[in-house]
Amino acid sequence: MSLADAYALATLTGTLTLAVGWCIGRYHRRTAAATAERAVRPPGPHPTAVADELALALAALATSCCLTAAVTAGAEHDPAHCTAHCTRKDQTL
Ligand SMILES: [Zn+2]
Repeated sequence: MSLADAYALATLTGTLTLAVGWCIGRYHRRTAAATAERAVRPPGPHPTAVADELALALAALATSCCLTAAVTAGAEHDPAHCTAHCTRKDQTL
């Protein structure tokens, strides 16, 4: 093996060692970050997120016959604004 070959082999070995070390370090940094995030997270069960609450409210509003029914969870209806399909128009405010 010539000196140039030995130099090339040492350079390749050093580069591979640095790359593997960087990957291992990155893995440990990401694992440590996830562990720290889990440590500060309050224990479950978690309340529904605000985005989920908004999605549920919009779905309820979209499926309700009138705004009053959506706000009162179907307990009351506004006969002036209820859709024609509402079967509870007689139960007014
Ligand atoms: Zn209604």
